[in-house]
Amino acid sequence: MKTNRIIEYLDYLFPNPVCELKFEKDYEFLIAIVLSAQSTDKRVNSVTPILFSKYKSLKMLKKASNHDLEDIIRPVGSFRKKASYVKEIARILDEEFDGVVPKDREKLITFPGVGRKTINVFLSEFYDIPAIAVDTHVERVSKRLGLAKIDDDVLEVERKLQKKFRKDLWSRLHLQLVLFGRYHCKAVRPECFNCQIADICHEKKKNYK
Ligand code: SF4
Repeated sequence: MKTNRIIEYLDYLFPNPVCELKFEKDYEFLIAIVLSAQSTDKRVNSVTPILFSKYKSLKMLKKASNHDLEDIIRPVGSFRKKASYVKEIARILDEEFDGVVPKDREKLITFPGVGRKTINVFLSEFYDIPAIAVDTHVERVSKRLGLAKIDDDVLEVERKLQKKFRKDLWSRLHLQLVLFGRYHCKAVRPECFNCQIADICHEKKKNYK
């Protein structure tokens, strides 16, 4: 079965998949995910240690000057918008949630800069709640492997993956698909020549050289 082949191969490539964003506290992780939108984990990891060592608490973060936050997070892109998200998330968590990031989707979706993908990444990684976050890597790989259709939106891709894979595999699968897309099935010049599931891939013929 196609899904078993995919799981076996991803388990072979990434037996212990981990999220590559660095963090120590719950709110640091949530903010790191927000900063990672349209950016890379590497860039986010280059700014968050500076951000969280200068502003060591939510109380400090919510009072930070926009200008200073923008300077620190500039490398991740969209820094003005993201700086305002960081301050507002810090304020909401400090004033309305006793400083703890809630497990509740309905509450998290009201936070600025926090969408479905961010929530799925956060809940699955931090609270171990099964979820499949569909980022650019997951979307691309899923479509190449025929797990979703080329014109499916991210929500449809997520629904299809949820149907095709067991719930207890969702969070692990998300991490594995991200890593597979980042290091093997790259957007440009995927390593099809070295791919052990090329025979079930819809993209193989286009990319195999
Ligand atoms: Fe990705 Fe190429 Fe493998 Fe298909 S054959 S999954 S495009 S690396």
